[in-house]
Amino acid sequence: EWAKNVIKQEEIDKYLINGKDFIDEDLIWDKLSKNSEPDKEYIRGIIKKSLSITRLDPDETAALLNVRDEELWEEMYEAGAEIKRKVYDNRIVFFAPLYCSNLCVNSCTYCGFRKENPHEKRRILTMDEIKQETEHVIDAGHKRMIVVYGEHPQSDADYMAESIKAIYSVQKKAKNGNGTGSIRRVNINAAPMSTADLKKLWEVGIGTYQVFQETYNRDLYKKLHPAGPKSDFRWRLYALHRAMDAGIDDLAIGALFGLYDWRFEVMGLLYHAIDLETQFGIGPHTISFPRMTQASGSELSTNSEYIVSDEDFKKLVTVLRLSVPYTGLIITAREKSEIKKEVIQVGCTQTDASTRIGIGGYSEAAKLQDEEKQQFMLGETRSLDEVIREMAEIGKISSFCTAGYRCGRTGDKIMGLLQECVEGKFCKLNAILTFKEYLDDYGSDETKAIGEELIKKEMEEVRNMEFYQKHNLIGKLEEYYERISNGERDLYL
Ligand code: SF4
Repeated sequence: EWAKNVIKQEEIDKYLINGKDFIDEDLIWDKLSKNSEPDKEYIRGIIKKSLSITRLDPDETAALLNVRDEELWEEMYEAGAEIKRKVYDNRIVFFAPLYCSNLCVNSCTYCGFRKENPHEKRRILTMDEIKQETEHVIDAGHKRMIVVYGEHPQSDADYMAESIKAIYSVQKKAKNGNGTGSIRRVNINAAPMSTADLKKLWEVGIGTYQVFQETYNRDLYKKLHPAGPKSDFRWRLYALHRAMDAGIDDLAIGALFGLYDWRFEVMGLLYHAIDLETQFGIGPHTISFPRMTQASGSELSTNSEYIVSDEDFKKLVTVLRLSVPYTGLIITAREKSEIKKEVIQVGCTQTDASTRIGIGGYSEAAKLQDEEKQQFMLGETRSLDEVIREMAEIGKISSFCTAGYRCGRTGDKIMGLLQECVEGKFCKLNAILTFKEYLDDYGSDETKAIGEELIKKEMEEVRNMEFYQKHNLIGKLEEYYERISNGERDLYL
């Protein structure tokens, strides 16, 4: 009964243009075939356009997806890294996922949480348990969370709002005894909701709202989602449009790679970004591209004919980097550390570490992974400290910054700043400050040693950059750095 009332047809229809949604499968295939033999110089022109931080058109993205020349791919990898540096600098933002519930009314064939799966041990966390999980996440050194829920009346918008409040309320003394840790930004990954429900989340301070379309091929979508509210392709397709109308302006799109042709899905993501830009003037805040991995009781999760190889994965991430240069790209612990490292180099901006995705997985630390309580299996289970150390070794500074959001740099404001490459300049400063906090409060001696060296180098770079001199930011940074070293926390620019 509950599931039948989830979908509000009028909240789909209002976004259609001439009765049509923005995914036209024939048009996507047409673009891919028309651009199947792209000329080298045409590709170089497209790369140049990306480097000017301009979003590409579908024909241009289709051409990039059809490149076969490895030399050109190398140029595209380099351009991806360059765009990332221009827009986001050399930082990588860390977050932790928190799975609150694996109760679900849907039947997604690739997911361990689907209602028919008898192997899954079902559980929904109480508010006390959520607080306990949050304490563990804070103890690892995190400041950002993405909270995940199955679709079920017990984990409805009221439960989500309560859980967000519960997470924000937790304060925990830092491991090294220098400060107090808390989660400063709560993002969520949840089923599509009505505008009224989304408003409830906005009122309690939700950060980014993430909904993955899984696949943009609607016939396949129907097959993979045979029952439950999720079987409605358009209800999901416009989930983020409704969020925008509810006041949530940081939106995250994604597709589950491995369900269908990866080139088609990249085009679907691009059309999604374009429609958000067209209807609201703001594209997605982030794009995710999880690759399907083994899930409890799901044969499809391991034997799909569309499984994406590591080589193609790197290519699809690169094309997304070039196609939507202003957006953040998320690579998660689904992936093994080697490939994570590679795609971070070509343009990813965020990742997770110390990850546990079983329900109650952080508190039940005995088992790193438990197939019967997880949606899928992870490729990477290393601690945040280890991953941060590895990033520092390749010159990437880890950031826990949430300043942009708290200074009102969200939605169209942050989009403009990203496109003009200004936001990244603030990010660089805030990355230094939050990295210093992390090292003092949670870093191991080994990570501290390499981290402090990297900070020194970063500070030197800042001192020599005209932008910071012109805006009188160097003195402020040095003052804040000093105050953080003396125990103050949460200072940002
Ligand atoms: Fe439920 Fe999401 Fe899993 Fe589908 S993918 S069964 S909606 S948890």
